[in-house]
Amino acid sequence: MSQKTIGGDAIDRDDLAKYLATALDITRFRDFCPNGLQVEGRREIKKLVTGVTASLALLEAAIAKGADAILVHHGYFWRGEDARVIGQKHGRLKLLLAHDVNLFAYHLPLDMHAEFGNNAQLAQRLGLLAEARFGEDDLGWLGTVADASIATVGDLALLIERQLGRVPLLIGDPAQKLGKAGWCTGAAQSLLGDAIAAGANVYLSGEISEPTVHLARESGVAYLACGHHATERYGVQALGTHLAAQFGIAHDFIDIDNPV
Ligand SMILES: [Zn+2]
Repeated sequence: MSQKTIGGDAIDRDDLAKYLATALDITRFRDFCPNGLQVEGRREIKKLVTGVTASLALLEAAIAKGADAILVHHGYFWRGEDARVIGQKHGRLKLLLAHDVNLFAYHLPLDMHAEFGNNAQLAQRLGLLAEARFGEDDLGWLGTVADASIATVGDLALLIERQLGRVPLLIGDPAQKLGKAGWCTGAAQSLLGDAIAAGANVYLSGEISEPTVHLARESGVAYLACGHHATERYGVQALGTHLAAQFGIAHDFIDIDNPV
């Protein structure tokens, strides 16, 4: 892929947007938000900050670090939201615009990318080998745990605790033998039915809802709620690391903790 950089350690904002549009194949997805440059800032990008969500706390931390651009998984302008620039939205946009900082956001393209995606990056950390996809738009991934010593659902829960640094909520029997695992990061509790149909005997996602518990219990498929934020910290980090190597720009990932 050809790209034009301003210097050895900087990239033009529009060139970065073009590069990411191709690399993440953004036109492939029917998404709930615009993917790409969401808020335009200065032209020259030397310093990139990545984070999970473009919250006010992330913007403040990124600006304090001298970011020219912020790249997140959860950006702004979600379908159906109040379009007015008031309240929370005003506070965030005002800060970005006042500091002339670019905001790039990639939602589904960053969940699904084969290398930088949240599903792929979570699989890498847990040693999950993907074999198939399931659910709407193939958002769910199905596979097996590579490490044979991870034999039960309880073993998998402990592995998640070690790798993600937090205790997952397990609905099911920890002693249940592991079969096929299904996974989808974030708020993908609604894919449990598809995971069951695809043959998973354990399903991992970020969030869980009240009805999810009953479906897990009544189907005998174990459910591991590992945290929406916790499961989606890895895609932006992998992408930021790649962009730093590709264009010689500086990159920091900032983790604004979120218990959900
Ligand atoms: Zn998410």
